[in-house]
Amino acid sequence: MSIDKSDLLYEIRRFAAEVVGLAAPSWAKGRAPDPVLFRKAADLGLFRLQVPHSEGGLGMGFMHKAYACKALAAADFGFAMSVVNTHNVAARIASSGSDETRASFLPALLWGESSACTALTEPAAGSDIAAMQTRATKAGGKWVLNGEKCWIVNARHASTAIVYAQTADQGDIDGIAAFVVDLTASGCRRYATSSDFAQSSAGTGGFVLTDLTLPEANMILAPGQGFRSIMEEINGARTYVAAMCCGMMEAGLRHASAHGASRRAFGKPLSAHQGWRIPLARAETALAAARALTDIAIAAVHAGHDAQLQAALAKVAATDAATTHLPALLHAMGAEGLDTRYPMARHLAAAQIATLVDGSTEMLLERIARLARPIPHTSN
Ligand SMILES: Cc1cc2nc3c(=O)[nH]c(=O)nc-3n(C[C@H](O)[C@H](O)[C@H](O)COP(=O)(O)OP(=O)(O)OC[C@H]3O[C@@H](n4cnc5c(N)ncnc54)[C@H](O)[C@@H]3O)c2cc1C
Repeated sequence: MSIDKSDLLYEIRRFAAEVVGLAAPSWAKGRAPDPVLFRKAADLGLFRLQVPHSEGGLGMGFMHKAYACKALAAADFGFAMSVVNTHNVAARIASSGSDETRASFLPALLWGESSACTALTEPAAGSDIAAMQTRATKAGGKWVLNGEKCWIVNARHASTAIVYAQTADQGDIDGIAAFVVDLTASGCRRYATSSDFAQSSAGTGGFVLTDLTLPEANMILAPGQGFRSIMEEINGARTYVAAMCCGMMEAGLRHASAHGASRRAFGKPLSAHQGWRIPLARAETALAAARALTDIAIAAVHAGHDAQLQAALAKVAATDAATTHLPALLHAMGAEGLDTRYPMARHLAAAQIATLVDGSTEMLLERIARLARPIPHTSN
């Protein structure tokens, strides 16, 4: 049966507004999403979007994933991050996994029965990924992993992870490989990361691997391919994070303007006061610019072009817009903006998180500077 893509996006938007948005206030108070929600997301196809038909997926392109992320984040950024991280692992295992890993891990991921994460960050290696210290060593035809990963979406509950590890000397980017790891195996101790900012819906946590042994077939990216694949895939991730920020801004504007139309002060609706409307107009302007750059980046990634510059521009513009204007939109709703019925405070924290994940703002500005205005070579 062929799926009409516009109908699918419509259904995802409805699911975000009517199901995710209603459940999200309790997540801001530390409760975890009900697993039923992940199965509903699976029924919609959210874990199969970019998985090929031959592996039970929908065979769609990046564009659909980016707009699905945007729709989900308008309701809750953490939930959107959780879904897309499981989706990405499923798509990676479907495209590069061995027969054994596809058979063992894929069905549960595609149908929302379990979740997954991608683990790069470590206590001593964040922006500087090449400094990772998690080691993979070969012993008796098996891989043995030792190290710690932290600040990982879904690590609290994921059963599957793609773990990046160093097989050569520390700092050697050609030594970095990736492995499919069963996080329920002995040799893995996980922990939740608690922070008022790390929303429980993102399931943020970490894990320590101690002599965790893997069959050879669980190496999904060989040394040399690991770092290259991070650099290629990260442009997609930066772009969908930009789309998520646009989704949160659209939601913020919608709630603030509805509040301004219904709340009266000094004898007329708030929205009839010119001074009240100005911050909304500024937010609208920043959103329009961020959305235009994000749409350009989405089209570039979707078409398979080198989207380094477009993705960096989109993410910087969208995170700047969200971190600057979401506080103003919350402020425009007065005290009511803090009520957990509205996503304003959650989105504000999420916008801050968005400035760090998949390349911090400083890393992206460095990339923009290098790509947009290359430094001329000098002889001395
Ligand atoms: C909620 C959440 C979820 C996450 N999920 C994942 C996940 O699923 N998987 C994963 O692998 N990681 C994940 N991360 C980690 C994220 O990718 C890192 O936070 C990010 O790479 C930055 O690393 P760091 O936090 O160690 O900061 P650092 O690298 O220590 O940087 C600290 C600050 O210094 C700045 N800085 C660093 N180097 C430079 C420089 N050369 N010049 C100028 N400024 C610099 C940075 O921009 C930042 O502001 C997550 C983080 C958060 C907060």
